[in-house]
Amino acid sequence: MRLIVESGQKNRSCTLLPELSVPEYRMEASLLRGQELHLPEVSETEISRHYTALAGRVHGVNNGFYPLGSCTMKYNPKINDEIAAMEGFSNIHPLQPEYTAEGCLEVLKEAEEILTEITGMDAMTFQPAAGAHGEFTGLLLMHAYHTARKDSGRTKILVPDSAHGTNPASAAMVGYTIINIPSTEHGLVDLTALKAALGNDTAGLMLTNPNTLGLFDTNILEITRLVHEAGGLNYYDGANLNAVIGRARPGDMGFDIVHLNLHKTFSTPHGGGGPGSGPVGCKKNLANYLPGNRVARDGENHYLLQQEESVGRVKMFEGNFLIVLRALTYLLTLGKEGMADISGNAVLNANYMMKRLEDTFEVAYPGVCMHEFVLTLEKLKEETGVSALDMAKGIQEYGIHPPTMYFPNIVHEALMLEPTETESKETIDRAVDIMLQLYDKAQNEPERLKEAPINQPVRRLDEVTAARKPILKHSDEEHCETCVE
Ligand SMILES: *Cc1c(COP(=O)(O)O)cnc(C)c1O
Repeated sequence: MRLIVESGQKNRSCTLLPELSVPEYRMEASLLRGQELHLPEVSETEISRHYTALAGRVHGVNNGFYPLGSCTMKYNPKINDEIAAMEGFSNIHPLQPEYTAEGCLEVLKEAEEILTEITGMDAMTFQPAAGAHGEFTGLLLMHAYHTARKDSGRTKILVPDSAHGTNPASAAMVGYTIINIPSTEHGLVDLTALKAALGNDTAGLMLTNPNTLGLFDTNILEITRLVHEAGGLNYYDGANLNAVIGRARPGDMGFDIVHLNLHKTFSTPHGGGGPGSGPVGCKKNLANYLPGNRVARDGENHYLLQQEESVGRVKMFEGNFLIVLRALTYLLTLGKEGMADISGNAVLNANYMMKRLEDTFEVAYPGVCMHEFVLTLEKLKEETGVSALDMAKGIQEYGIHPPTMYFPNIVHEALMLEPTETESKETIDRAVDIMLQLYDKAQNEPERLKEAPINQPVRRLDEVTAARKPILKHSDEEHCETCVE
């Protein structure tokens, strides 16, 4: 497929701007660009066809089942977009006077109130643009807290080996040393190893509960207590909140800081480069360090409050405001009672799917799971040569997005499935039937699976070259050689 800049013809256009009605202004020559700007010169039909074709090459929740573990690819209700498109919300400018954006400030305040109640926190910032950005921000709060107490020897962050890769990466970006905490054979935090790692150099612990194996850590109160006793803080990676929302709160589990992924748990757009939103909540004693402006309420009025000891801005203005508005719409649509239904159905769907698969596939940590579970295809690969990757490519042929592969790292040949609460029994049954058929295929015709996918827009990609030599920018001179018509 051609890129949009490679389509069209010289001087073709579809300008929709009205004719100039003011005197033309010529900029100083020194301010003009030296080279002509290469913009696509296409007609409206071409634009429309181009983006329709592109959309057809992508798999989203509106195309089919998307059981991508850890990512909570749930349905995004259309009412969220309808509200976000309202002119009073979409036609504002971040620099317009505060009193003219009263409704928008109220949205932020109300979202903060509901989400702090859900998480058991006291205050929240909406600046971070994603989960990983929230982790970075949360760790800055942790750093500010220790610094303010003149406790400068705390240089280490403890991270369990089942953690998402962003956890150690964010800790490293804030300048911390990462200590890896192993999991027990049951997939939970190894308490003995945790105790051995804790000391007066511990800044804090980063944990997601349930963890990325889909298991709720039954020792959670003991874990957070031990970290506090050692003088550290507890950071909750909220990416898995879908499993416990409306039923258990990170604040009650002993966590001090939380990030949420509005694009996961709270049904806002996900993937494709965003925009996402990763608000960070914290307990009272950390609220002063939150970045940027927070919204305060005075009777009916709202205004932006400067934080005295803020760690500084992490994003322009109030973050991805329209994403927060979508999440608030979702929260208000479901109401308080609806929150517990999310987690109840998410956990039910995952257990149903796991039960139907477990006699054929090997579940990495058998038992009751939370909102997701992990299969290991290690034995299947030994027997047949068919890997988790081959299985994932085979699943694609049926209009189903592959599960998360090769994560968490502690499970070999891992496939991690998260059906979410918005899928029907029929959809899950179909996916299970397909996976069972593919398992048979792996035994009888493994070479067929090694060739998959055959019916997708692209076959197997050269992922190593894509990672090692990525082409990130289109250049007019070097015409893209890899483009296929
Ligand atoms: C998705 C995810 C993250 C990172 O969130 P982004 O919004 O993708 O930056 C962190 N931890 C876990 C467990 C996740 O699933």
